[in-house]
Order: sequence, then structure tokens, then C-alpha cells
Amino acid sequence: MSVPDCIFCKIHRGELPATVVNRADGLLAIEDINPKADVHLLVIPERHIETFREVGELSDSEAKRMLEFVAETAKQAGLEEYRLIIFCGPGAGQTVFHLHWHILGGAFRGLPA
Ligand code: AMP
Ligand code: ZN
Repeated sequence: MSVPDCIFCKIHRGELPATVVNRADGLLAIEDINPKADVHLLVIPERHIETFREVGELSDSEAKRMLEFVAETAKQAGLEEYRLIIFCGPGAGQTVFHLHWHILGGAFRGLPA
């Protein structure tokens, strides 16, 4: 389930540094390394799912917990209003093939990809 060369699997395994802003069982929220907004966070489930197309690989409870974790992370970052984005597939701008949500708050400097 954990992929050796995947950047986000490496972050979950503690093999790559990241600024962690929130964590829960099987879930991590980090600061984006190349922020496109005043607050640009990434919510990354531990389970390696390549794109949003395969979101059904999450169990019902995992999927619900992930969504609640996204909302909780934004709230904890002091955001009441924010953009929530997933890029699905390279043609849509996805560059890291491990499911993640972008949370973008404050002044917005364009789409991440
Ligand atoms: P996406 O285009 O949706 O695949 O987004 C990938 C995002 O991951 C981009 O916004 C990158 O800036 C961000 N990113 C890539 N590597 C890292 C890293 N090591 N730590 C934090 N963010 C990263
Ligand atoms: Zn991965």
C-alpha cells in the first residue's frame, strides 16, 4: 500500500521532511512547498490512491473521516472561507499521483498546477 518512490508516501513514512499542521490516524495535513495562496495546505491520506477516480478504495468510514479532517484542518488554520481543490489526472494539472486535497485560503495567486 505504501509506494517506495511516492513523495507523499515518503512524507507519511517520515522519510521526507514536511511542515505538518495536523495529523490523525492515517491522515496528514502539511504546508504546500510552493504555496499559491496565503494559506496553502495539502491533506494527504496515508493510503496510496493514485487519483480521485479511485476514491472508492477508501472505506465509507475512511472517506468520511478524510472529509471531516479536511474541514477540521481548515478551521484549525483559522480559515472560515477557502477553496478546496483536487486535480484528477495529468491533463487536469495533477503532478503528484497520490490523492490529496488542496486547501487554499486568503489571497489566491492562481491554480496550484
Ligand atoms: P497536484 O498538482 O495537485 O498534484 O499538487 C501537488 C502539490 O504538491 C503541488 O502544489 C506542490 O507544490 C506540492 N508538493 C510537491 N512536493 C512537495 C513536498 N515535498 N512538500 C510539500 N508539498 C509538495
Ligand atoms: Zn503514495
